[in-house]
Amino acid sequence: MIRISRDYVTDCLKAGLEPAAYCESGDVAEFETRDCYDDNDITEDNPYGNHPDGLENPATGPLYVRGAEPGDVLKVEILGIELREYGIMRTSVTDGAFHHLYEKKTARRFYFKKDETAGSYRISFDDKLTLDCDIMIGVIGTAPAGDGVITITPGSHGGNMDCRKIGIGTTLYLPVNTPGALLAMGDLHALMGDGEMMICGLETGGIVTVRVTVLKKAEAGYLWDALPLLDADGSLMTIQSAETLDEAAKLAACRMQRLVAAVTGLDDVNSGMLMSLKGNLVICQIVNPLKTVRCEFPKEVLECYQ
Ligand code: CA
Ligand code: CA
Repeated sequence: MIRISRDYVTDCLKAGLEPAAYCESGDVAEFETRDCYDDNDITEDNPYGNHPDGLENPATGPLYVRGAEPGDVLKVEILGIELREYGIMRTSVTDGAFHHLYEKKTARRFYFKKDETAGSYRISFDDKLTLDCDIMIGVIGTAPAGDGVITITPGSHGGNMDCRKIGIGTTLYLPVNTPGALLAMGDLHALMGDGEMMICGLETGGIVTVRVTVLKKAEAGYLWDALPLLDADGSLMTIQSAETLDEAAKLAACRMQRLVAAVTGLDDVNSGMLMSLKGNLVICQIVNPLKTVRCEFPKEVLECYQ
């Protein structure tokens, strides 16, 4: 088993990075991730941590997948995620929907209770409320085309999409823009609602197990135009990021309409009608330099045409 330790992190996804490990198409690999504060030992008493020069949103990797060439698609099956013992939330005084309410940064730690039989995690929010965790990967991407992209920004390569549906048992399709694809990931959230309203999820680190498979250009077909694309909860989801939510929503919807038209053979009028009847636009996050929206479309509708 390939395992990339938390010592191999980057705060910028880009072509030319030294690979942390190499694998073949179809291999399973483990990524040991730091939290988004670079494991900065944040506590209630020390909300800034002990090394304020730490990386923002460090991503573990990159993994070089042999045989992946520009124009191919990288299929990433998320097989499992194990969390460390606690998660952190911290307020921001400059960003997020509620920053005007806060005069200083305040942090809280939440320790996980693990159900070993089910493999699930819970937290106690207070003496009235216990919450089930629903683990997601905030940052996951390949090297982008052109210049590098820092790991606080999402884009067509993936990155800091903060889509809460990217979790255990789902499959994410990402573009290959450079030889080897150079996959990296981090910024685990044990729990987060759509929007990531305050500024963060329940930020934590852990070990993510994935299988990576290269789909060559010829077999990837219409997938390339829909990337990043997620297969989760019985739906396909196009995940798009832009300066505004309006732009991101339109991009996500248009990418999905093209996919639906390609799969069903319907023309633009009828595929547009079907999108309006069965597609859903959902905000992923409103707190990153580009905002992210996903368009969900049920696979059972597409299967009627196959
Ligand atoms: Ca994030
Ligand atoms: Ca985060």
